[in-house]
Amino acid sequence: MIPVTGYEGCRVAVLGLGRSGLATARALEAGGALALCWDDGQEARDAAEGQGLAIHDLTREGAFDGVAALVVSPGIPHLYPRPNPVIARAWAAGVPVDNDIGLFFRSFGSDIFADLDTVPRVVAVTGSNGKSTTTALIHHILSEAGRPCQMAGNIGRGVLDLEPPQDGEVIVLELSSYQTDLARALTPDIAVLTNLSPDHLDRHAGLGGYFAAKRRLFAEGGPDRAVIGVDEAEGQYLANQMAEGPQDDRLIRVSVAGRLDRFGWSVFARKGFLSEYRKGKQVGSIDLRGVRGLPGRHNHQNACCAYAAARALGLGPKLIEDALGTFEGLPHRSQIIAEAGGVTVVNDSKATNVDSAAQALQAFGRIRWIAGGLGKDGGIAALVPHLGSVVKAYLIGHSARDFALELGDVPHEISVTMARAVDAALAEAEPGDTVLLAPAAASFDQYPNFEKRGEDFTALVREALARRG
Ligand code: ADP
Repeated sequence: MIPVTGYEGCRVAVLGLGRSGLATARALEAGGALALCWDDGQEARDAAEGQGLAIHDLTREGAFDGVAALVVSPGIPHLYPRPNPVIARAWAAGVPVDNDIGLFFRSFGSDIFADLDTVPRVVAVTGSNGKSTTTALIHHILSEAGRPCQMAGNIGRGVLDLEPPQDGEVIVLELSSYQTDLARALTPDIAVLTNLSPDHLDRHAGLGGYFAAKRRLFAEGGPDRAVIGVDEAEGQYLANQMAEGPQDDRLIRVSVAGRLDRFGWSVFARKGFLSEYRKGKQVGSIDLRGVRGLPGRHNHQNACCAYAAARALGLGPKLIEDALGTFEGLPHRSQIIAEAGGVTVVNDSKATNVDSAAQALQAFGRIRWIAGGLGKDGGIAALVPHLGSVVKAYLIGHSARDFALELGDVPHEISVTMARAVDAALAEAEPGDTVLLAPAAASFDQYPNFEKRGEDFTALVREALARRG
């Protein structure tokens, strides 16, 4: 745990008692504060009380009297579509609102470094897609290099739940737009933006608000080194703002859309080859085509971002290349789960939006595509140009009929359930085909979350393959 400093003897309110909220309350208490905990759900309150934490009704009049700060969980809307009433109450009382990320950066300082020879560093990764993969990949490269490292944030472990850092340790954080929007301190040593496409627009009142939230990672305090994907206008804009000129190598530009060999420092991938250029010279080159854990152009983007961050941390190209080769990929993200009779089966249940599904659809040939669920605004119209490799679509869930209407000439059937879609796709697949789950929709109509959807898909595939022997 990282004890929170700066609130010794203070009363600090904690709103939201999920994994990160509970870790925050414990870290506040370890730092000498009194955590006043609240969650709208009775069950969450009972669980916190069971852990010895103090429950304090933050919805009642005067709840913020004598309170030094309010710390909010990422799932709770802090501004749009409308502020949570507890947050509005804190504003009205003039109480600063923060989150665990802000507390982490405030507390991750000299006190816990006092006995270390080499100061620990923090790498923070944000972007619309590829955050988790890039974060896990950086962590994997560091582990393979034998460097002390830990990983936390949006990827699962609360940041205040990290172990106090060892000598020279690197902390790798995945940060969502909700987290970067609210944190009152954001001072990573290296900040990474993978890419930007519309997502979570309701929580940020549109694309501008969403980008502004992500940009804070680069603006508040300014990282020593920035790794920025420049394949969208927002990335170009941010890179341009951060750099003194084209040769400024505090910035590493990343692209999978074109050659970037004129800058102070850049990493790009073309036709499956990653290249690193520094001050006009090529200093690294890796053939990514055979890297099984990172299929497709989207994963090559993640590889470039992770490579750039690892280079910024001082690791050598060869060592990084070897580590990329042993990365197994994350579950539910373009994950190869079976290969049988020449048919490859891929679980990309995490492709909950059109953009991530488009990436998966471009990563494989001859696809039998399982899609559908709870579709998002705009449907799948934007996917139509990327359906060239789809031999047939098997549509499931709430949006099956809507998706069917947009597919035009692409052969498809309405399978409704995952079980029927899996059976039909595997029965009809020919050697060379890829059966791909990339739903382009949320899972909540049929599953509690995308992980359960991916697990169900994997189990059904294994059963179907076992039945056939
Ligand atoms: P995030 O943490 O940003 O949601 P993940 O690594 O979990 O990113 O991947 C989420 C989804 O996006 C998966 O479907 C994955 O295949 C796809 N994806 C991964 N990397 C990228 C990328 N660089 N660009 C677009 N889509 C990607």
